Amino acid sequence: MKEIYKNVYHVGDSGCSVFLVNTQSGEGLVLIDCGMSFEMIKKISKANLNPMEIKHCIITHFHIDHIAACSDLKKFNKCVKFYAHELDADAIEEKGHDRETAAMWYGVKYQPVKLTKRLKGNLEILKFGIYDFQCLHTPGHTPGSISILVETQEKKKILFGQDLHGPIIPGVSNFEDYQISLRKLLDLNADILCEGHFGVYQPASEVQRYINKYIE
Ligand SMILES: [Zn+2]
Ligand SMILES: [Zn+2]
Repeated sequence: MKEIYKNVYHVGDSGCSVFLVNTQSGEGLVLIDCGMSFEMIKKISKANLNPMEIKHCIITHFHIDHIAACSDLKKFNKCVKFYAHELDADAIEEKGHDRETAAMWYGVKYQPVKLTKRLKGNLEILKFGIYDFQCLHTPGHTPGSISILVETQEKKKILFGQDLHGPIIPGVSNFEDYQISLRKLLDLNADILCEGHFGVYQPASEVQRYINKYIE
């Protein structure tokens, strides 16, 4: 558990990197992806955050390393609400999508969770407390991949890019969409990038350098 910025934390890595935003409001704590271990998420209590206060979880895409722990979170706190893009929603809400989610490859039995909302179109904004979570559709890695941009009160732009590194998976990914999405992310001029597997990048010049590595 590491504070990246005021109210913004890197919870840890289990499958993917899991991030958390404290909304400082009745909307509680917002998770960006769940990873594979709810035990890891529960450790936020060591930083004086209450796991029962996790009220929202925004899922960036349907891969098992980002969603496996969702069902355990739901069992722990029935009130938690999940969000994902409609194009990735079926694999998150239903059984039988083990090829898309890569659950088969990881040897994990995925327990589906219901979404409170299926995000649609290019941009949907979820307002929780003092923060607007701009959910940008950035397809390519998966059809319904999203990236989440949060602007702090000090006007710092924090981008939760998750699997912006790819990879491109035959039958699931779309390379052209992926390249268009990367350019869209570059244009955001984010100050801090939280990547799904490769750490946290800042300042803005480092974010640009990182995204540019994947643009062809
Ligand atoms: Zn992925
Ligand atoms: Zn991933």
